[in-house]
Amino acid sequence: MPTNLLTVAYIGASALFILSLAGLSNQKTAPKGNIYGITGMLIAVAATTLSLGVKEYGILGAVVLLGSIIGASVASRVAMTSMPELVAILHSFVGLAAVLVGIANYLQPEQSLTGIEEKIHQLEIFIGVFIGAVTLTGSIIAFGKLRAIISSKSLLLPARHWLNLGMILACVCLGFVFMQSEPLNGLPPLLIMTAIASVLGIHLVMAIGGADMPVVISMLNSYSGWAAAAAGFMLSNDLLIITGALVGSSGAILSYIMCRAMNRSFISVIAGGFGTEAGTVSQSGAAHQPVGTVNSTTIEETVQMLRDAKTVIVVPGYGMAVAQAQHAVSDITKHLRSQGVEVRFGIHPVAGRLPGHMNVLLAEAKVPYDIVLEMEEINHDFPKTDAVLVIGANDTVNPSAMDDPNSPIAGMPVLEVWKSTQVVVMKRSMASGYAGVDNPLFYKENTRMLFGDAKKNVDAILGKLSFA
Ligand code: NDP
Repeated sequence: MPTNLLTVAYIGASALFILSLAGLSNQKTAPKGNIYGITGMLIAVAATTLSLGVKEYGILGAVVLLGSIIGASVASRVAMTSMPELVAILHSFVGLAAVLVGIANYLQPEQSLTGIEEKIHQLEIFIGVFIGAVTLTGSIIAFGKLRAIISSKSLLLPARHWLNLGMILACVCLGFVFMQSEPLNGLPPLLIMTAIASVLGIHLVMAIGGADMPVVISMLNSYSGWAAAAAGFMLSNDLLIITGALVGSSGAILSYIMCRAMNRSFISVIAGGFGTEAGTVSQSGAAHQPVGTVNSTTIEETVQMLRDAKTVIVVPGYGMAVAQAQHAVSDITKHLRSQGVEVRFGIHPVAGRLPGHMNVLLAEAKVPYDIVLEMEEINHDFPKTDAVLVIGANDTVNPSAMDDPNSPIAGMPVLEVWKSTQVVVMKRSMASGYAGVDNPLFYKENTRMLFGDAKKNVDAILGKLSFA
């Protein structure tokens, strides 16, 4: 394909990626956004394949075929609840690609580059490999934490910030040695830096505790974008630079939004749990243990509560996703609304295991968008609400975030469900949520626990409600 045509194809693909991001920012336009993204990616892959630089079609075809088969089979089998793990491990592939492209690029330097251009290219390689290595190992740790292979608690080593600073300084020094080396002699500093950056990635993510994991996922998403952009610079591929920058900056904006929603400082989280000393205290047992009695309830009592209520708020969480209860919840909503009850949903920004997880499930179950409200839109309405159904949510409705300064989730805004007249919490046991924190909500006077699988319970409630 002639270079001019390649440029046109890349500009077209870039425009489609921007349209895709714009579409994905709203539930109604998201399907269109997806189509733009897929089309852009098809154009990008086809144009790159047909570009002058590609010669080994046999190897490329075999690799693309193998990758497509693995990707399609993994993606088609992954459960919605395991999506964050998949995303985390996919980020690690981007990091690995940046490391490999960087090292390969260094071993086979572009002959046409000399003088300052050559130096700039070396710097691109060094920075690209650094970001790639941090992304690679950080994402593997995030995958382990989300899969519960690694504990979700933060690992807070003594002097950990000095340790991070030391590793960064060591990488900077190695960078100077690398830049001053004769061609190919810089391989040892490059490889040593890769090893140090890999340890840094592990340490940064290990230091982040359970409740802050959503920020880590979006942050690694951002890193993977910058790693791709760095690979774009190394390969002189404009489209890769643009796409990487789009992913990098949108991931950074999402991390910032998440931090604001959770009342966390962005710098603290990306610096590997900077300022999470409160978490250390509570992990050693100093957080307040909830006191009081736990009152359980039955399906019949819950149905009666719903029948008597004029206003109901449903608060879904990760447990609703696990139980796949969203369709029955949607039917209960339809039924109650047909009886003149005002039903709304309160969505916490980090409910579930993915940004927007609950919104996706409720949209899939055809719950109208206009009754699905964000936390800050609905929080002040709880005192005026007759009944709240908490379906598989835990950390996001934990009052200790507001009352207990020693709690690992202290300061995180939560849905203040306990301010309503009556709360029914559906879960299987008294187990804690992802952040591993006890929940005083379960001991409050106006809370009733409806134990059991959320799907079975909402099906039973629906059956009794529709029977009457
Ligand atoms: P939590 O993880 O706090 O709690 C979910 C609850 O669901 C558990 O306590 C569990 O209790 C219950 N549950 C599990 N399976 C079922 C079932 N089949 N039926 C009924 N209940 C069930 O959920 P939240 O949504 O409130 O909070 C999300 C947490 O995840 C936050 O800490 C957030 O920081 C973290 N996180 C969020 C991410 C995001 O992007 N949204 C990403 C990574 C982490 P039991 O076992 O007793 O049934």
